[in-house]
Amino acid sequence: MDDIVRYLQQREDEMVELLKELVLMESPSSDPKLTEKMGCFLSEKFVEMTGGAFTTVASDEYSPHIRAEWGEGEAQLLIVTHFDTVWPEGTLEDMPFEINDGKAYGPGTFDMKGGIVQALFAIQALKDLDKLLDKRIVLMMTSDEELGSPTSKDHIMVEAAQSDAVFVLEPSQGENGALKTARKGVGTYEISIHGVSSHAGIEPEKGASAIEELAEQITYLSNLTDLDKGTTVNVGMIDGGSSKNVIAEEAHAVVDVRVQTQEEMDRVVPLIEQIKPHDEEVDIEIEGEIYRPPLERSDEIEALFERASRLAEDYLGFRLEEESTGGGSDANFTATLSPTLDGLGAVGDGAHAQHEHLVISEMPKRSALLAMLLCEYGINS
Ligand SMILES: [Zn+2]
Repeated sequence: MDDIVRYLQQREDEMVELLKELVLMESPSSDPKLTEKMGCFLSEKFVEMTGGAFTTVASDEYSPHIRAEWGEGEAQLLIVTHFDTVWPEGTLEDMPFEINDGKAYGPGTFDMKGGIVQALFAIQALKDLDKLLDKRIVLMMTSDEELGSPTSKDHIMVEAAQSDAVFVLEPSQGENGALKTARKGVGTYEISIHGVSSHAGIEPEKGASAIEELAEQITYLSNLTDLDKGTTVNVGMIDGGSSKNVIAEEAHAVVDVRVQTQEEMDRVVPLIEQIKPHDEEVDIEIEGEIYRPPLERSDEIEALFERASRLAEDYLGFRLEEESTGGGSDANFTATLSPTLDGLGAVGDGAHAQHEHLVISEMPKRSALLAMLLCEYGINS
């Protein structure tokens, strides 16, 4: 293991160089032309660095995802990354790639181009150091994670179901770079209320207000929140009505739902989906779902975390921490199918924020941690 650490420590500058290249190539999820370019670049880079092979996985709405593979064996280990970002084209003008005080700033550095760099170097280290695994490593690089992985989800799940373990390279949490061993499930619901319009001054009795109904429903939905159990139901956006003197015919709301446990998911989902109008003259339509189930800290996840923390302590000299988060990731999908460790990516701060950055000196360490995990897991045990 020491040779892996040494190998990667010597590659810090190359890692920063590649990170810079990736950040300068903007890749917002919503722009398939740009993400496709990024996917092509990364697949070629993968072949160049590891000698492995790749296939593209078509996506109906977005650009192709990349399934890259290295090594041989019946069993496999899965690494999950995404190369799309939340930043629109042109963000670099206000938020350039910059190195300052040992940190690399710029759109996508932390979430999660740094993680991709670390994964590529980790596999390259295994190859260059002749670490022959008994398992193949599959690296999924997807183009739509920031949109909830609508077109990559199924492919990720198929790979996860075939894998002995899954490593997700989402950013770590907090300044100590804690791994994420629990994540909330996440859902979105859109509510449309159809009332009956009428003149508010002349014949108010003939109307049925969609806005009044929505007001009732907002209270109902908000009351489903149970902070002690980690459940939140947030009516985050509303609109409705056409004029101040018209009893509103239409009103809409968009609701964000998060649950920490399957039990809470089972409680809250029917209460939302079977929402009933207060006013009989009003119709309510509801659309949506919990698209990422909760990732609960299972015994398998605990065992995987223990393994990682032992490696960090023995070979990298730091104490690995773990935390839970309210944000979802592809780990929410994979954890139900295979032991999953998330937050193995960059150490830094500011995902989806103007001050997004990663800590450069952590890149070789986290890359080494991944390489060692792959090595331990991959040599038949
Ligand atoms: Zn991410």
